[in-house]
Order: sequence, then structure tokens, then C-alpha cells
Amino acid sequence: MENRINILDDLTINKIAAGEVVERPSSVVKELIENCVDAKSTKIIVDIVDGGKKSIRITDNGIGIPSSEVSKSFLRHATSKIKEIDDLYDLYSLGFRGEALASISAVSKLEMITKTKDEAVGTRVYVEGGKVITKEPIGATNGTTIIIKDIFYNTPVRQKFLKSTHAETINISDLINKLAIGNPNIQIKYINNGKPMLNTPGDNKLLSVIRSIYGKDITGNLIEVEYECSNFKLSGYIGNNNVYRSNKNLQHIYINKRFVKSKLILDAINESYKSIIPGGKHAVCFLDLEIKPSTIDVNIHPTKLEVKFENEQEIYVELRDYLKRKLLGSTLIGKYETYN
Ligand code: ADP
Ligand code: MG
Repeated sequence: MENRINILDDLTINKIAAGEVVERPSSVVKELIENCVDAKSTKIIVDIVDGGKKSIRITDNGIGIPSSEVSKSFLRHATSKIKEIDDLYDLYSLGFRGEALASISAVSKLEMITKTKDEAVGTRVYVEGGKVITKEPIGATNGTTIIIKDIFYNTPVRQKFLKSTHAETINISDLINKLAIGNPNIQIKYINNGKPMLNTPGDNKLLSVIRSIYGKDITGNLIEVEYECSNFKLSGYIGNNNVYRSNKNLQHIYINKRFVKSKLILDAINESYKSIIPGGKHAVCFLDLEIKPSTIDVNIHPTKLEVKFENEQEIYVELRDYLKRKLLGSTLIGKYETYN
């Protein structure tokens, strides 16, 4: 190899970066729905074909993108959500890296139709492999529709690693469930291969969303929680001792409405259920912790699934102790066996 240093061009940079953000079709669905949420939508329709491998279509009724900004939205580090690093200390939006549209459009064929309420007509763009091919005015309703086709058509290695339609569909369904639970104020409709899968009412009641997804067997066994202390404000539902799972699929943890994987929070929950449910089983929970953005770091990983807390130990103890008190004081717990 010659010892010559190349500065990579933007398309190559975007394709490489896409590897981090866009791992599979469900990553596209996650990024696009998060954008709809950030755009203050009250209704989101997700329509996928063949596990998202053939197409992903997402429509929202949010604020839209002004025609003059549309091409810019596909550039890397193009975001309307922050201006400078200090904005992260007061961040309530799900996005802020300005990477999703650049990454997704670099590895797929993308069509966007968008209109703001201040514009008379909308804008349609077609982007292929990161390049804006056409941009034209089009009649449209307020909001944004994005259609992704042929994901990874220009990154054959990634395409080879796509799983079966069934496996990719399960991933997408899980993800939509998670986003729906985090946003009970938004009506979320999900269609898979033409079949309606989920339609949440958008009535701002978490219990309605849980019922839409998991049915009455779960909602009939939930205890409402609400608690405020110096480190966080907690709300949501936890399962009683009649419902628990062998896997962690029904453990939904949110920080400021962003679903996260947090070992700290899960450990606190497990600890509070000790002796209430059998060892090795997993409690059911739907919990949102509202935490001051300045005391957490969501910028650890491109997919933002992990969060670092400033006051880890305090949060752990406060959460564990509150949940334990709540569980023991609940009439829904009844007489229970003590498990080891
Ligand atoms: P980020 O979400 O981190 O800002 P994205 O690449 O996901 O970066 O989106 C870039 C920008 O495009 C957003 O900041 C937003 O201004 C605009 N945008 C993307 N999707 C939508 C949408 N559904 N509705 C309105 N604006 C959108
Ligand atoms: Mg985004």
C-alpha cells in the first residue's frame, strides 16, 4: 500500500457513517419515526413491505420541511435541533446528530414529500445513493412522507447480512411498539404487507397503548407508579406478581421519553422485585424517568440506546426503594409466596 493519505469524499464518508446508524431496516424505521415525533406529529403511519427490505413508507402530520431546506436535510451534520454543544444540556428532542437522513439516503433510494403549514404547495425530492436527483413542487398535505426502497442496494455486504423477512419484521414490530409506548399522545398506525398490525388511539393514555399492544391480560395486572425526587420524576406502570416473563421483552425503560437500554435501571427494578417474583424471571414494566438533560449523556453511541447518568448511585437507590415500597403497599399484590 502506498503511503498516501486521501481525504474521503462526502458520499464515501456518508456510506461509512451509515454503517453505524443504519444497521438494518428497523434502524431506518427508528430514525424516521423519531423524526416524526420531533416534528410534533399527532399521527404517524408506518407501512412496510417484506420486513422493510422492499420498502418502508412513513407518513406524519408534523411541521414538515420548508422547500428551501429540503436538500440540506440530507447533508451530514444537518440538524434543526441543536446549534451548539451546550444545547445538549437542555435537549428534549430525540434527534440531534443530523446523521439519519444523510446515512439512510446514502444506502437506499429515498423519496420525500413534505409541506409546512406556511407553504401553499409541498416539495417532492428523490435521492439515490445520497445524491438529490430531482426536486420539484407537488400538491401535498401538511407533514412529511418518506419512502425508502432497496435498502443497501449499493452496499452489497450489508445486503447480504439482512435477515429473513420474518426476522426483520419482528425487529420492526418491536421497535414500533417501543416508540408507541413512549408516545401515547401520538396515534401510531402500523401496516405490514398490507395487513394492519397496530393502531394506537393517541389519547395520551399509556394504558391505552399497552392495551393495544399486549391486551387486557397485561393491563389488568399493572400498578400505576408516580414519584418525584431530587434526581428524577418517575411515571408509568409496573407488573404485579401475577405477570412476569422469562425474557426481558416486556421491560420498557424510557429516559425523557427516549427508550434506552440501562443496566442501572434494570438492576434497580430487579432488586425491588426480589422475593416477589421467582428468581431469574423478569418483571413487566413501562417506566419513564424524567431527568434533567444536563445530568445525563445520551451521546455515547450513534443509536443513542445507552445513557450515562451523573448521579448513578442515588438514582439506583431511590428507584429501587420507591418501587419496593410501591409493590409491597399495592392491593394488586395480595398474599405472595416469598421466592429466593
Ligand atoms: P436529526 O434528527 O438528528 O436532526 P436527521 O438526519 O434525522 O437529523 O434529520 C435532519 C433534519 O431534517 C431534522 O433536523 C429536521 O429539521 C428535518 N426532518 C427530518 N425528518 C423530518 C420530519 N419527519 N418532519 C419534519 N422535519 C424533518
Ligand atoms: Mg433524526
